[in-house]
Amino acid sequence: MKRIVVLGPPGTGKGTQAVILAKKFDLSQLAPGDILRAAAAQKTSMALKAKEYMDQGLLVPNQIIIDLIIEAIKGAKPGGYILDGFPRTIQQAEALTKFLADNQQQLDRAIFLDTPDDVIVERLASRRSCKCGAIYNLKSKPPITADTCDHCGSTLFIRSDDKPETIKVRQEQYRKDTKPLIAYYTDAGLLSQISGDGSQEEITSKILQLL
Ligand code: AMP
Repeated sequence: MKRIVVLGPPGTGKGTQAVILAKKFDLSQLAPGDILRAAAAQKTSMALKAKEYMDQGLLVPNQIIIDLIIEAIKGAKPGGYILDGFPRTIQQAEALTKFLADNQQQLDRAIFLDTPDDVIVERLASRRSCKCGAIYNLKSKPPITADTCDHCGSTLFIRSDDKPETIKVRQEQYRKDTKPLIAYYTDAGLLSQISGDGSQEEITSKILQLL
């Protein structure tokens, strides 16, 4: 069973790589952002509360996210899971470590995908997303038909938190709360760092060599 964490700043390509790896190894891709966006469309009270934070680029309170992810892990595929965008704080990482230890399990690897800030701002500005989880980039990976998902035919959307001012807030949150996880997983002997500044194929192949 594989248990993998993908870490990195917003826009580094975590979601893109997580979707590819999940498909390749038949794993569940568990991303709090995706789960919350889907729940917000259903207007659940938890998701509407979370949306207030997301729209401002702020992290959603730890306990909401921890409960959500533990539930998702319990329902993951038998082959395992990729955590994409979790943990994002030390408190979340500690909750995950405790949950795994309580179940006599451990993580296989924490992959840190690092990309310079200027590349990220440009990438996020041309990102288009689909409700099915597919992610496009108007420059490097455009859909075949404009504004339409190649996989499910739904209309693509620009995430409400992909505006330049919100991207800045998300980058600050990353520096303050998420970056300390690099030391956390290095100390645990689980961290592997890969540059996220390259083509999708190049980055996937580096990750596959690692796994
Ligand atoms: P993402 O789709 O991973 O870019 O996440 C979008 C937004 O969802 C983030 O900017 C946060 O507001 C929220 N979010 C996602 N994952 C977490 C997390 N692990 N902890 C707190 N908030 C999160």
